[in-house]
Formats: sequence, structure tokens, C-alpha cells
Amino acid sequence: MSNQLLQGKSALVTGGSRGIGRAIALAFAAQGAQVAIADYGDDAVAAEAVALLKEAGSARAFSLKGDVSDPAFAKEAAARMKEDFGGCDILVNNAGITDDGLMLRMKPESFDRVVAINLNGAFYMTKELSALMVKQRSGRIINMSSVSGVKGNAGQANYSASKAGLIGLTKSAAKELGSRGITVNAIAPGFINTSMTALLTEEQMARSVSAITLGRAGEPEDIAELALFLASDKASYITGQVIAVDGGLVL
Ligand code: NAP
Repeated sequence: MSNQLLQGKSALVTGGSRGIGRAIALAFAAQGAQVAIADYGDDAVAAEAVALLKEAGSARAFSLKGDVSDPAFAKEAAARMKEDFGGCDILVNNAGITDDGLMLRMKPESFDRVVAINLNGAFYMTKELSALMVKQRSGRIINMSSVSGVKGNAGQANYSASKAGLIGLTKSAAKELGSRGITVNAIAPGFINTSMTALLTEEQMARSVSAITLGRAGEPEDIAELALFLASDKASYITGQVIAVDGGLVL
């Protein structure tokens, strides 16, 4: 018998082309899952991620191109998961953007766009993919929140609101889906080295790192370790939780 944690499972990771999502997708593939990624931008980046997923063990890995803030994309994703993998055991709602600025200067369009991708996108995906899980009477949903959603952050009213909203979505979905054997949890990363945090100035970065108890930024793999655990059978009695992976940033 295989001792891989996700042997025989299928997973969809939104925003899986790079950063935290790519690390999660690769961790799942290395533990026996067939993995699909959904992303929006550069085809070459997604193609590279798919090649790495195949190398890691997901022979049937594929990428779906689309915008998670479009409800039609979630329907398409569910249909492809059913067609290619026969269903969906694990959904990771990880796609996200920032568009920082002080609230007094923040345009309504900026607020709406960030919430539409980070929060509405997770709702659409959860709605469509959980329908497959309900039929299977099992599933794992993992939402990528943030320390900004837990404690707020100046300059991130749009982002913090979307990430706090994800926590509410996580808890409500956990309550609705628990009786069908589906767990729903959120991860709240702190400051993780990806292209998202590379947008910060050196001064902003130094300030952020100085507030971290462990004195350093995290890596995408630090988040992937928890996602892997939550996706596995080992976490079958954990639901509705928000778990920080932040080097002690919220302390
Ligand atoms: P990243 O490197 O910028 O990657 C973001 C991913 O989301 C990319 O794959 C991107 O696809 C995808 N994406 C963006 N908009 C999309 C859309 N409309 N539809 C589909 N896919 C879309 O970011 P990251 O740092 O890995 O962040 C991943 C998640 O962790 C985000 O939800 C973020 O808020 C959260 N998080 C990050 C940190 C951190 O410190 N990095 C901290 C807390 C929480 P393309 O490549 O195609 O654009």
C-alpha cells in the first residue's frame, strides 16, 4: 500500500502557477495527487508549473486559464475537474491580488476588484466545486486568507476586507458542508517571499520583517506544509479553523 498522503486524490489550486499556489500544487503532486491549477496571466509561467507538476508525479496535471472573479469560470473549472479527474477531492482557493493605498485615496474600483478576485472568486469556486464533493461525501477546502484579514493593515482596506471576508466564508462553509464529510479551513500567512511581496519597497519590507518574531520572512513551502496536512486524512477532524503561518507576526 502507498504511504503517500494524497494517493488517488484530485486537487484544484487556484493561483497555482507561481508563488504560494505553485508550492502547494507541487507538494500535493509529490504526495500522489493529480493536480490542476487555475490562473489568469502568463501562459509560459503556467506551462512551466504544469511541467514541474508532471515531474513531481502528477502525470495528468493541467492548467485552466481564466479569471476567478467570473462565476462562469468556476462552472468551467468544475466541469473540467469532473471530466479529467472524475471529481475534485481538494480545492485550494489561493488566487489573490493586492492593490494597496490609503483608504482616503483608494478608488472604489480598486476596492471592488480586490474583493471580487480574493473573496467572490473563492465563493464561486467553493459553490461549484463543493457540489462535486457533496456527491462524493468527502472533500477538503482550503482558503488562503492573510494576517491582514485577521488584524487589519493600514494601506490595505480592500485586501484586509477581502481576507477577513474569507474567514467568514470559511466558517459558514464549514458549517454547511460538515455533515457531508467536507472540511473547510483557512490559512493566514504572514510575510512570505513571493512576487506579491516583491512589490514592496525595501523600506516597507524591512519594516514588515522587523515585526516578525522569528526575524525573517517565510517561504511558499512553509505554507505548503500546512496545506498538505489540511488536505490529508490526518486533518479529518479539523474544520472551520484559521491557522496562522507567520513566524509569530500576530503575537
Ligand atoms: P503571487 O505570487 O502574486 O501569485 C498570485 C497567483 O494568483 C498567481 O498564480 C496569479 O495568476 C493568480 N491570480 C491572480 N489574479 C487572478 C485571477 N483573477 N484569476 C485567477 N488567478 C489569479 O501571490 P502569492 O504571494 O503566492 O499569494 C498567494 C495567495 O496568498 C494570495 O491569495 C495572497 O493574498 C495570499 N497571501 C500572500 C502573502 C505573502 O506574503 N505573499 C501573505 C498572506 C496571504 P497569474 O500568474 O496568472 O497572474
